[in-house]
Amino acid sequence: MHETLIILGSGGWFPAFGRQTASALLRDGDSAVMIDAGTGVGRLIERPELLEGIQRLDIILTHFHLDHVAGLAYLPALGVCEQTTVWGPGRLLYGASTSEFLARVSNEPFHPVPLEAQEIDVRDLPGDELELPGARVELRRQERHSAPSLGLRFGDTLAWVTDTAYDKDSAAFASGCRMLAHEAWFPDARPRNADIHSSSAQAGQIAAAAGIERLLLIHLPPFTALQHELLLEAGARVPRALLAEDGADVSALMAPEAGVRPTAPDGDAAPAPVPARR
Ligand SMILES: [Zn+2]
Repeated sequence: MHETLIILGSGGWFPAFGRQTASALLRDGDSAVMIDAGTGVGRLIERPELLEGIQRLDIILTHFHLDHVAGLAYLPALGVCEQTTVWGPGRLLYGASTSEFLARVSNEPFHPVPLEAQEIDVRDLPGDELELPGARVELRRQERHSAPSLGLRFGDTLAWVTDTAYDKDSAAFASGCRMLAHEAWFPDARPRNADIHSSSAQAGQIAAAAGIERLLLIHLPPFTALQHELLLEAGARVPRALLAEDGADVSALMAPEAGVRPTAPDGDAAPAPVPARR
């Protein structure tokens, strides 16, 4: 089971004010899942230890907008893990294979190092579920973005909902997870692209409707460094809301309830989860 979640890029659209765009790393032993590959992938160059010991890396793309795939172009700088796979929603959402879409941007005249030249497998996400080491990932088609996107759910640990306008059905999809990561693109009082993005109040509303107490606001707007308003708005709706920050280790949000100590196989109580770092 994935226990470590590091935010690589906490912003949307373009990098600004210290936020790179959409990417996060979930680690489990010697395997890891990268959720989206925006410019945040560059954080792995700054902090190579985050990939230390990882033999298998699965990169799952929620959609193909550039703020979610630009970092695929940085993979040659990282050096690939022994087994690296990019999973995309080409067939699932847009009627052509993921490799066909990604070949366009990873080959000349856009980029000199094609994915296929790097021993990286490019595969299409299957129907509505993907079995990976450490997690069964459920996929949900989200219709309320400019192009469809995918919501992701990692067992009962984490639901990841980005690049969608308010979609009440996200709550049922996320229900039962310990943590929800949801995009927050604007405060309710000042709507911006509300037909394709969600407000932080709406993110809070989805968390509350799903019965999830821990909410991480992701895909933050790049227009200003001042985003406390987003946090206040979401925080009024859930007990624990956090703004994602690049480099933050937010694993504590996925941990079992503090105070409810998981029981080790021999019947002894396992150590209490590490408290939140931030
Ligand atoms: Zn985006």
